[in-house]
Amino acid sequence: TNRRKITEVKSVCCYCGTGCGVVIETDGVHLLNVRGDPDHPVNRGQLCIKGQTLAAAHVRTGRATRPLIRPKRGAAFQPTDWDTALRLNAERFAQIIATHGPDAVAFYVSGQLLTEDYYLFNKLARGLVGTNNIDSNSRLCMSSAVTAYKTTLGSDTVPCCYEDIDLADLYLLAGSNAAITHPILFRRIEVAKNRHPERQILVIDPRRSETAAYADLHLAIQPGTDTFLFAAMLHVLVWERLIDEAFIATHTEGFEALRRELAELTPGAVSPICGLSPETIVDAARRFGNAQAPLSFWCQGLNQSIHGTSNGVALIHLHLATGKIGRPGMGPFSLTGQPNAMGGRETGTMATLLPGHRDPNSEKDRSELAHLWGIPSLPERPGKTAVEIFDALAEGTIKAIWIACTNPAHSFPHLERATEALRRAEWVVLQDAWQDTETAPFADLLLPAATWGEKEGTMTNSERRISRVRAAVPPPGEAKPDWWIVQAFARHLGKALGISERAERLFFFPTEEAIFLDYARTTAGTDIAIETLTYATLDQLGPQQWPFTSGQSQARPFSDHRFSYPDGKARFQTLDRSRLPEPIDARHPFLLITGRLRDQWHGMSRTGRIPQLFRHDPEPVVRMNRTDLERRGWREGDLLRLRSRRGELILPVATADEVRSGHLFLAMHWGRRSLAGEGSNALTLAATDPLSRQPHLKHAAVRVEKC
Ligand code: SF4
Repeated sequence: TNRRKITEVKSVCCYCGTGCGVVIETDGVHLLNVRGDPDHPVNRGQLCIKGQTLAAAHVRTGRATRPLIRPKRGAAFQPTDWDTALRLNAERFAQIIATHGPDAVAFYVSGQLLTEDYYLFNKLARGLVGTNNIDSNSRLCMSSAVTAYKTTLGSDTVPCCYEDIDLADLYLLAGSNAAITHPILFRRIEVAKNRHPERQILVIDPRRSETAAYADLHLAIQPGTDTFLFAAMLHVLVWERLIDEAFIATHTEGFEALRRELAELTPGAVSPICGLSPETIVDAARRFGNAQAPLSFWCQGLNQSIHGTSNGVALIHLHLATGKIGRPGMGPFSLTGQPNAMGGRETGTMATLLPGHRDPNSEKDRSELAHLWGIPSLPERPGKTAVEIFDALAEGTIKAIWIACTNPAHSFPHLERATEALRRAEWVVLQDAWQDTETAPFADLLLPAATWGEKEGTMTNSERRISRVRAAVPPPGEAKPDWWIVQAFARHLGKALGISERAERLFFFPTEEAIFLDYARTTAGTDIAIETLTYATLDQLGPQQWPFTSGQSQARPFSDHRFSYPDGKARFQTLDRSRLPEPIDARHPFLLITGRLRDQWHGMSRTGRIPQLFRHDPEPVVRMNRTDLERRGWREGDLLRLRSRRGELILPVATADEVRSGHLFLAMHWGRRSLAGEGSNALTLAATDPLSRQPHLKHAAVRVEKC
C-alpha cells in the first residue's frame, strides 16, 4: 500500500546537441529509469550510454539545496533563505551599477540552460540592467560556426536536417569525433553506410579517432590547417570543372576574388602545410565534387581555433561553389556540442546576438526588440564575450559576475588567468545545481538551481528541432528552476535601482510557457519564426523545427536558394591563412590536442558521479604515440610532467597508436575533481578568433618530462 505510483514522463536528453527523446520512469521522488523515446523523430527509441545512465546521474551527492553565502571571502558557506540571498544580491548589483555603470556587471550563462531560462537572463541583462555583457559557454563551443554561417549565408541558419543523413551519398566529418560525441547521430550514418556500402565517409582529424576508424578516407591533417585543405580542395574542383558556375553566378557574390586567392593554393603548395600528400587532397576533392549529395559535419576541431570562422567558411565554400546546399541530402551542417546551444543562439543570449537573430549593433533591431519588450531602448555599447569578460574582471572594469549552469574554473582556457580573474572580482554569484564544482570555491553567493528531470521548458538541437523538456520530480530542498531565480532577482533589483515598474513590465511570468510565448513573439517576421508554436502544439505534433510557419516545420531552409542577405545571394569570403597561435619549438616540441571520451560529458559534474561511466576510461591519462614513448625509454603508466607556457600537469602516459608522432592527446573532461590537477586547461591558451571570439582550446605546445 506504500508503493508509489510509477508514471512516465517524456523529455529530451540533457547531454549532446543530437537531442534524443527520452522516457523517464518515476515514482514522483526518484528517476527510476530513462529509456529512449520510440516516438521521438531524432532517435526512435535509441540512446547512447550517457543517455541510458541519466537516471543514475540524478543523485543528491554534491547538490546545492539551499542558498549559500560566505560572510567574507575565504570563509565557509553558510545557508540562508531565498529572500535574504536575492535581496543581498540585488543590493550588491545595484550598488555596483549605481557607482560604476551597468557595464560593470556581467552574466556568463550556459548551453545547458533551457530556452526559457536563457531568454529571461537576456531580458535581465539587456532589458533591466542595461548591459550587453551577457555571454554563454557556447562561445567556447560553436560561436565560430555562427560567424561562418552569418558571413556566408547571411544568417545563423543551419541549412540541413538529420533526414539528410539517409539521403546523402558522401559524409564529410571535419573536426568532429561524432562516433563518440554525437553517437546516435553517427549511428544513423553507420546504418546508412551499411545499407549502401557505396556511400563514402571522409574524416578530417589529426588523430585516428573513433570516427576516423570508420572512414573510407581519413585525412590525418596537421592540426589547425583545415582552411588550407578546404581551399586546396576547392582549387581542384575549380581546375577540374566540378563547380557549378550557373549556381555561383545566380546565387552568390564574391567568387572571382576567391578564385584569384585559390590560384596559389594548389594541392602541391598546401601539401606540406597540411601534412597530406597532394594525391590525397586531389582524391578528397574529387570524391566531394563527384558526390551527388555531400553532407559535411563539423564541430570543435574546426570551431575551437583562432581561425575557427575561416575553417567553417572554407567548408561552406565547397558547398556554395558546387551548388550542393539547400536540397535533400546535402549541405554544411555544424553540430552543437551542448543540448541547447542552439536555444542560446535563437534567444540571442550572447554578447553579439539578440533574440530572433537580431543584431545588437543594428539600431533598427534594437528598437524593434525594445518595442516588443515595452521599454524605451536597449543598450548600444558592445557587450564583452566570454574571454573578454574574464579579462575585464581581472582588470577591474567588470566588478561583478553572475555565472549560471557552467563551470568556468574547469572549462576556461588558460585556467590560471581565468581563476585569478574570479579572485579579483568584487562579487561572484554562482547559480548551479551542484555545490562541489571547481567554480564553487570562487563564489560569494551560491544559488541552488533545479536540474534536468526537475524543470520544464524547451531545448533546440543541432537540426533546429525544438523539443519539450519536462519535470518528473521536484527539485531537492529549496532548489528552484533557473528562470524562477532570475525573475525573483529581477524584482528585487528593480526595487534596489528604483525601477520597479520596468521590472514588473519585463518580468510577469507565471509559468515557463508564458516565457516561451513571450520569446516566440520576438521571432515573428524573422527567419526563426516560431510565433505560432505553443507547448500544446509541441505536445500535439511532437518536436518541431524552426522556422515553423503555416502549422509546419521547415526541414531545409534555403531550398529556394535564396539566402539571408538582402539580395538573396550567399557570399564567398576571404580566408584566414594564419597559422597556429602557438607552434611547437625546441623548448615545447609536442603539440597537445584536446578532445573527448566516449562516456564522459564536459566537466563531469554529472557523468563523473556514475561508476559505470568510468569502465571505458577509468583514469586520466595523456596519450602518446608508441614510437615517441619508446624513443625516450619511457613505459606505459610512467608519470609525465606536461608543461606549456602557462602551466603544468602530471599524468600517467598511455601508448596510443591513433595519435601521430609529435602529438599528445588529453581528454578535456578530467579536472581537479578527478585528481588531474587543473586538467587540460592548465595548459591551453586564451587566444581567440578575431571574428567569433571563440578561444583556441584545441591545441597547445608543450614539453614533456618523466617525473
Ligand atoms: Fe544523449 Fe547525445 Fe547520447 Fe542522444 S546521442 S542519448 S542526446 S548524449
